[in-house]
Amino acid sequence: MSNLTSDDVLRALKTIVDPDRNKDVVALGLIQGLQVKDGHVSFAIEVSPTEGLAKEPLRLAAEKAVLALKGARSVTAVLTAHKTAASAPPRRAGLNAQLQAEAQPRAGAAERQGPPGVKAVIAVASGKGGVGKSTVAVNLAVALSKLGRKVGLLDADIYGPSIPRMLGLTGKPTSKDGKKLQPMEAWGLKAISIGSLIDEDQPMIWRGPMVMTALTQLIYDVEWAPLDVLVVDMPPGTGDAQLTLAQRVPLAGAIIVSTPQDIALIDARKGLAMFKKTHVPVFGIVENMSTFVCPNCGHESHIFGHGGARETAAKLGTDFLGEIPLHIAIRETSDGGTPITARDPGSAQAQAFFALAERIIAKLDAGDGRTAPRIVME
Ligand code: ADP
Repeated sequence: MSNLTSDDVLRALKTIVDPDRNKDVVALGLIQGLQVKDGHVSFAIEVSPTEGLAKEPLRLAAEKAVLALKGARSVTAVLTAHKTAASAPPRRAGLNAQLQAEAQPRAGAAERQGPPGVKAVIAVASGKGGVGKSTVAVNLAVALSKLGRKVGLLDADIYGPSIPRMLGLTGKPTSKDGKKLQPMEAWGLKAISIGSLIDEDQPMIWRGPMVMTALTQLIYDVEWAPLDVLVVDMPPGTGDAQLTLAQRVPLAGAIIVSTPQDIALIDARKGLAMFKKTHVPVFGIVENMSTFVCPNCGHESHIFGHGGARETAAKLGTDFLGEIPLHIAIRETSDGGTPITARDPGSAQAQAFFALAERIIAKLDAGDGRTAPRIVME
């Protein structure tokens, strides 16, 4: 047990002076969402959108000062920028208060702009982890790119970022101007993973608001442009983080990945309900790990059942976007850093992803999704 308190942390933060304003970060009211739990500390530092990552040294100094405290086991500090004066919360109100305020109905809800130079942002979501959401996101992104679109991939799965492994990315993204991050490049995609920015050994203590701040930065403070599509690999589930992401970012549409079993489908239904609630158009449901074709004898089996996603989609009045077979080549290529759509685009497994990509292109071109939809808070 650690006896570290919020007051101890604030005292340490009072020693951190913002050189541009010559006052400490606490006096300036920049510290938000402070949480201290058994020596694990997290907070956000509010900066103006124009300052962005230029304030990184301030963040590092704050983290260091808190980590030096007796009883501090881990510290996570993130920079948060509010885009408009209208959406900025009162200083010192804290991110929780801001989120609550945003959840209230607002007259003429703000028209949120997507990242500049990005025509459409789409989300790949799932009701629970382990259903192949990241595998679908990666292969869909590569397939879209091979079909001639300029594509970015944002790994927003804070609980298990797997895109660096799946794309074979190593190292960290860099910044030319100290404000915007340069995306990394692989298989024709621009890609950024929250996994490349966090220390894997650091406990993942980011909670709702903290996570949201980091994710919003990865959408707005990365040099994505020009892009036709930015594919976001969402965190699994339908909790606060997912809901807020859906509220904060103008999504052209969402794709829900499910395995055929009933239990996964129940979760998929929750995912669908979440997007409906935030008025994000749902492009439809993809059934992953659908048919298993034995690599030795060609026999087809339905290990997790079959057709459940198609039935659920029909019942819920959303589209069925296709089936991705359960195949060892998909797992081996994903885990080996060479997605099957890049490694063996002619294979039946890759073709399933190309068929999905074509459906998504048709939906984007038909305007089923919206490039800058109105996000209505409920
Ligand atoms: P999630 O993002 O939903 O947690 P992942 O995409 O990380 O799931 O997939 C979990 C594991 O299942 C990975 O090892 C991945 O390679 C494997 N996998 C996903 N889809 C398939 C598939 N269609 N066939 C074979 N293996 C798959």
